Formats: sequence, C-alpha cells, structure tokens
Amino acid sequence: MNQKNVIITLLFLSVVFSATSQEIIAHRGYWKTDGSAQNSIAALMKADALNVYGSEVDVWLSSDGVPVVNHDADVLLDGNKIRVQETSVATLKKVKLANGESLPTVEEYLTAFEKCGNTRLIIELKPHTHRKTEDELAEKVIHIVREKGLQNRVEYISFSINLVNQITKIDPQAQVYYLNGDLAPRVVKTLGAAGIDYHFNALKKNPHWVKEAHDLGLKVNVWTVNTPDGIREMLDLKVDFITTDEPLLAGELIKKRK
Ligand code: MG
Repeated sequence: MNQKNVIITLLFLSVVFSATSQEIIAHRGYWKTDGSAQNSIAALMKADALNVYGSEVDVWLSSDGVPVVNHDADVLLDGNKIRVQETSVATLKKVKLANGESLPTVEEYLTAFEKCGNTRLIIELKPHTHRKTEDELAEKVIHIVREKGLQNRVEYISFSINLVNQITKIDPQAQVYYLNGDLAPRVVKTLGAAGIDYHFNALKKNPHWVKEAHDLGLKVNVWTVNTPDGIREMLDLKVDFITTDEPLLAGELIKKRK
C-alpha cells in the first residue's frame, strides 16, 4: 500500500471507530469499591485504573474563594450541616469523606489528576446563589487547569447557562456540555457548547435530540444510568457517553455489542 492509500485507510478507520464508539464516564469517580468514596481522590485514581473515557467531579467555590470538590450544596461537619459556598476552605478541609480522605480542593484534585494516564476529567461547576460567584469559580478553575497544562485532558459540564457562557468565554477551546435537559440541541449549539449532557428521562422524552445533536456536530452524554436495561436503552439511542455509577457493568454491556 502506498502512503496515500495508508492515509485514506486510516482516515476511513478513524471515521468508522468514531462513529461507533460509545464511552463511559464514571459518575463522581469510581466510588462503589473498597477504599473509595464519591468525589474522593481515590475514586479518581480508581476510575483511571479502569481506563474509562472520563471521571466526573463536582466543584463549588468556598466563601473565601477557593474551588473545592463536593457534590451537595451542604456538608456535614461534627453533625452540623454547613453550606459549602458559605464556609471557608479551612473549615471545609476538616470534613472527612466516607473513605477517610479530607474534602479535596480542586488544586489537590488536579494535582492527583496530573498522575492519571488514561481517563479525562469531567468537571461539573455547580450553580451558585450569586452570578458573580459563578464567574469567579469558572475563572479560578480554568486558571488552575491552565497552570497545570491540563486543558486538553478536561471537559466541563454545568446546569447553569451562565457558567456554560463563562467557560466558553474564558477558554473558547474548552469542551462544555449543558446539563439541564430543557434546551433542544440547536439552542445549546448557540451557547458554543460541545454537546448536551442530559438526564435519561429528558432523552426518553426527546429521543430525536440525539440525531439533532449529531447533525449539528454536537456530542450526547446521558446521566446517571445504572441499570442494565437503562444502559442498553441509551446505547440503542446512540448516545456518545454514558455517565454511570456502574462503570464495570456499562463496560461489559458495551463490549458485548462490539
Ligand atoms: Mg455531578
């Protein structure tokens, strides 16, 4: 085969594989396993060891302006509920995750992520009470990502249209997905987003959105699909990514189709 034919063959194969590949994102890392916990650094390292496409993580801004990792708006400290966005990082660091780790800052989390060789990091920026706080969060997270040279290994997701806009404004190359399930892909495209990342019920209600997204050059991610039937149903819909608490199960189901 001459060089031109080799290039044509490789291009053909890359189109075939990109058209058929469906990938897994471990929701809050791979946490349903010994020594792990949701949004812990251990869960990130375990997701990387599984060699999944992505590991997802949730991020807030502390009251003194430090991006931190947590899912809920509140955390428990010594039996008291405290609001993450109204609490200083020094206090938040006292919170222990289920596996004994301290609640991580984004800086600590990304330092661990630098050692990952397989997975990408899917960073969810949480909607905050004040728009200005969201703007500061986007600015600071992207700054840390850039400082560590991780721009090409992270993607962003958010329920907040303001955050989607802020991220694409600060880093026009960033891949951003919109989470809220209420906008048709043609509208999401106008936000400069890379795709939709919707709850499975939003896609069940609007299955045509998958093709609409693909025709617009957008990708489709779906959350949080944990049952075999649910995963099969979403794979049949031809979504690009399955976000799941069961990455091993999703991996087996995808492998069976190849
Ligand atoms: Mg999340």
